[in-house]
Amino acid sequence: MQPYFLDAHTHVQFSGFDADRDAVIQRALDAGVRKMIVIGTQKDTSRAAVALAEKYPDNVRAVIGLHPVHTSRSFHDAQELGGGDAAQAFTSRGEVFDVDYYRALALDPTTVAIGECGLDYFHFNDDEPREVQIEKQKAAFLAQIQLAKDVKKPLMIHCRDAFADLIEFVRPHARELAPGVVHFFTGTPDDARRLLDMGFSFTFGGAITFPPRKGKTQGDYDEVIKLIPIDRIMSETDAPYVAPAPFRGKRNEPAYVVHVVARLAELKGVSTEEMKAQIEENARRVFGI
Ligand SMILES: [Zn+2]
Repeated sequence: MQPYFLDAHTHVQFSGFDADRDAVIQRALDAGVRKMIVIGTQKDTSRAAVALAEKYPDNVRAVIGLHPVHTSRSFHDAQELGGGDAAQAFTSRGEVFDVDYYRALALDPTTVAIGECGLDYFHFNDDEPREVQIEKQKAAFLAQIQLAKDVKKPLMIHCRDAFADLIEFVRPHARELAPGVVHFFTGTPDDARRLLDMGFSFTFGGAITFPPRKGKTQGDYDEVIKLIPIDRIMSETDAPYVAPAPFRGKRNEPAYVVHVVARLAELKGVSTEEMKAQIEENARRVFGI
């Protein structure tokens, strides 16, 4: 069989796809995207990820967990949770990590990793001191690290503006964790080296297809992608967010991951077919798919 395209981090269970979810998945399959890993961000989206994986057993897998921005009051994103009162109430209070709830989802055979979890020092709210919000994020992250160890599944990490803290936080656990993934990696080459040493792989999405900023000769991610070994790189969309260059500013969807893989291939100096095959092998190793 031809190698497939992988979307290693997507949110097609989010409300923004309620009107046309099955058509979106069909478009991905038609484009050769045969594996989609659907990522939860809190209780409802985690449960919905598992439900979607059960509906599409050949093509969809789930990742379940609590996103760091949802551990305190967060911006209400209707694309994620819908516009209803329950969603508004949820984003206004945030969530405390409920171990029993998530353990049941983690043990589901369609679940391939725990997350997205981690640290986000970009999206703070103004209600509480930052230290309080950071402590909540760290408590939820630690609980998810423990869960990942217990169920022997890897972590799907979200990290924004917090790499030094995140690396320090994860390091004591690294040897007991299945080698996981840092998604939408935005750290420095040094951060990448430290995370590589701890066994992590990295996913990149639409942002790597954007042309260099004014006055720059290369894209923001070119250097770090060239540095990371090809067997530690996977493709993602993070749909509905950050669509690749041809669709920039529009709703993203898994079919568009082909543009990400083409750019990864270019940066790694291989053909798109070789890049696809390598990503497929990496996904088998990390997620067992
Ligand atoms: Zn995400």
